[in-house]
Amino acid sequence: MALGVIVAAGGAGTRFGGEKILVPVRGVPLLFRTLRRLRRLDGTAEMVLVLPAERAGAIRGEYAAEFAALGVSAVVAGGRFREESVQNGFAALRPDADPVLVHDAVRPLFSLDAARRAVAVAVREGAAVVGVPARDTLLRTDSDLAVLEPVPREEVWHAETPQVFRRAVLAAALAKAGTDGFLAVATDEASLVRHAGGRVTMVRGEAWNLKVTERADLAIVSALAAAEAAEDGMTRIGHGWDVHRLAPGRPLMVGGVALPADRGTLGHSDGDALLHALTDAVLGAAGLDDIGTHFPDTDPRYRGVASASFVAAAVRLAAERGLRVSNADLTVVLEKPRVGPHRDAIRRSVAAALGVSPDRVNVKAKTAEGLGPVGSGDAVEAFAVVQLER
Ligand code: MG
Repeated sequence: MALGVIVAAGGAGTRFGGEKILVPVRGVPLLFRTLRRLRRLDGTAEMVLVLPAERAGAIRGEYAAEFAALGVSAVVAGGRFREESVQNGFAALRPDADPVLVHDAVRPLFSLDAARRAVAVAVREGAAVVGVPARDTLLRTDSDLAVLEPVPREEVWHAETPQVFRRAVLAAALAKAGTDGFLAVATDEASLVRHAGGRVTMVRGEAWNLKVTERADLAIVSALAAAEAAEDGMTRIGHGWDVHRLAPGRPLMVGGVALPADRGTLGHSDGDALLHALTDAVLGAAGLDDIGTHFPDTDPRYRGVASASFVAAAVRLAAERGLRVSNADLTVVLEKPRVGPHRDAIRRSVAAALGVSPDRVNVKAKTAEGLGPVGSGDAVEAFAVVQLER
């Protein structure tokens, strides 16, 4: 199976007021949220993106790298109306793409499960549309908003996208609608196939597959995306621990801050146990092994280096996997000097190394109550917990 995907973003967004496909939702533009999810479909051979004609060239140029990374094979200009845009997208698909899935660029929350079921049904039966049954009472009204008779609810479904078709079925439907003028009237592809006399099967999807139409819809999409991220394991936890000996003649580095002391942290680098624990926590949350793997203490490049650079490098590695730091909670165990007066400086220093605001970092200071090597002032110990989010 060579699934061809057409992502339709050809509309002017007049009800929205502006370029809604590029509006960020929790830091990610709507369009990229949709493309990322489409990319998770199996068997996708190519993905054609249809953009508003007057903006297609500029957006294609500006986001060329992102589109390539997301598997977009072509960016084409949309038409005067929805189905002309789909027709343009269809023309850009390679000839062996079959079946063909059409999806609205402004439906970032579609269910992958429903999309897969729709593909299976379309392969078997020719055409499938994802939708949800009407839940509310449906009342017909006249032009003065006087309520007329109810519409039988069990006969009505809300059609969403994805809509999936065998290539020949969609080709015939587009051709017929193109010759008899229905192309300008239809608002979805299932209607085109029905207009051409074909059968389309409804596949039950999810009510949260919202089509972002008005600005207020963004708040709903944002909340749903956050809930989904939490459920999907899109937030990730990492833990780190470290201990370093203390010896005379070295600065005592804690979280990138040199504390006033007669003994300091021993280590190949600057020996900052707190930043090493933090680096391990970031790497751990991202599933990237540990600090020793990435910055071995046998490598002369890291001799005497400021450990903040390990933290920054770990954050970059996580970012390459689409993860950013949500928050960090740190504990340093040091007998003396008292860390308390330096907590705020450490917090700001750690936040700078992570590239986040200080309110996302918490620093706790403890002593070992005289117990063990930490208690006797021979070592400093540190713990870090970090949360990353997609
Ligand atoms: Mg260390």
